[in-house]
Amino acid sequence: MNILPDLVVIGRCGCGKCPTIQLGLNYESDILDGRTLIDYCGLSQKGNIIGVSVLGNEKQPTELEFWSVDGLEEITEIPAIETLKPMNT
Ligand SMILES: [Zn+2]
Repeated sequence: MNILPDLVVIGRCGCGKCPTIQLGLNYESDILDGRTLIDYCGLSQKGNIIGVSVLGNEKQPTELEFWSVDGLEEITEIPAIETLKPMNT
């Protein structure tokens, strides 16, 4: 079943600064915990590494997370798309 067209943004990270968002199947959905399904990284404008992860459960993606891989920067932006690559190690 393709549920991607039904996903809506139901929350954002509590820090209020990073672009991390929580996803649900409707606006009444509870925010769910998920495990990492997809792991990418890209570069911030300052050149630091931003992790981009899709978390989810067996039914749906639950979160699109942006995080500082090297801890050098508070994440406030989405990395430039052309810098994205799979995080494998
Ligand atoms: Zn945050």
